[in-house]
Amino acid sequence: MSGEEKIFFQEAFDSNWIAPLGPQVDAFEKEVADYVGIEHTLALSSGTAALHLALEVLGVSSGDIVFCSDLTFVASANVIRYQGATPVFIDCNMVSWTMCPKALQKAMDQEQKPKAVIVTDLYGQSADYEAIYKICNAFKIPVISDAAEAFGADYKGKKCGGIGDINILSFNGNKIITTSGGGMMLSHNEEWIQKARKLATQSRENAVHYEHKMVGYNYRLSNLLAAVGRGQLKVLDDRVEKRRIIFETYKNALSNIDGIDFMPEADYGISNQWLTVCTVDPKKLGIDRNKIIHAMEKENIECRPIWKPMHLQPLFSGEKLYAIVETPNSDKLFRNGLCLPSGTNLSEEDQKKIINIIFTQLD
Ligand SMILES: *Cc1c(COP(=O)(O)O)cnc(C)c1O
Repeated sequence: MSGEEKIFFQEAFDSNWIAPLGPQVDAFEKEVADYVGIEHTLALSSGTAALHLALEVLGVSSGDIVFCSDLTFVASANVIRYQGATPVFIDCNMVSWTMCPKALQKAMDQEQKPKAVIVTDLYGQSADYEAIYKICNAFKIPVISDAAEAFGADYKGKKCGGIGDINILSFNGNKIITTSGGGMMLSHNEEWIQKARKLATQSRENAVHYEHKMVGYNYRLSNLLAAVGRGQLKVLDDRVEKRRIIFETYKNALSNIDGIDFMPEADYGISNQWLTVCTVDPKKLGIDRNKIIHAMEKENIECRPIWKPMHLQPLFSGEKLYAIVETPNSDKLFRNGLCLPSGTNLSEEDQKKIINIIFTQLD
């Protein structure tokens, strides 16, 4: 927390708006819209809720296909199942670890046309939207940008969370800024946001009594949590700067080691470096990723493998994956990928300790 949150939180208390709506929610929606550079925003209880409503708004239902990044967090794909639709996974490329446009093109040529494409901005790095739009526009297929991990990042001078036809952000406790739990849907299309707003409030019709024509959800963000979000928003750019320094420090210390490679930063954007992620090649290094994780564990330091690709999840066994290489890139990355401690409150001293543990393992 930055300290600023308390001021807005007190405001929320004083106004007695202790509800999933209120002045803090309205202000938070407007401030995020201004930051991202997009007209319409809807504050929600989670990023997952935002993804779910994105599919609802686009009319995705059973029998439909939705393309989805293979290397992502499970929330991106779970929502496809909520709708009874079928996911088709698209491999990543090695230059950005985000959706491979060539694999997307291959799926578009060979597969039933999808109702939407869900593209993840991975670990704070934007996908290559120009290349993706070139393919999707040819068939007028909407792009949902899952920017949950990439708030504060850029793609060609535009903010992530404002590039897709529908965009989602997350303010979960592990993200670069947080409301403890929360999310947002963002779009240039006012009609979609209005529709989602109604769905998120139990699809209540405009009447004095409680009138409902369709199924709805209880997905709005609490006014108290929106107050926290407003305070956090003030330090978003500082957080990005800090995470980028953490990334640079790891990179300077470790990238000369033959066998450790960092997730490349694509030249089209600026990553928020939400997590510093690298691969550990056991053939070159003599030790594998898991050995480093265990060594850290002994020192009470948490390290984890990168996301397990969706096509390898038991939940999605039997679903298709499109890749342009024999062994999918996501498999290769998952085998050796390691997330290093990257919290904004990581001290220089602690980071030195982490780096030293890695060096000790190499001896
Ligand atoms: C965190 C995350 C989500 C889900 O956000 P919640 O607010 O936790 O529901 C979705 N997609 C990706 C890529 C994420 O990292």
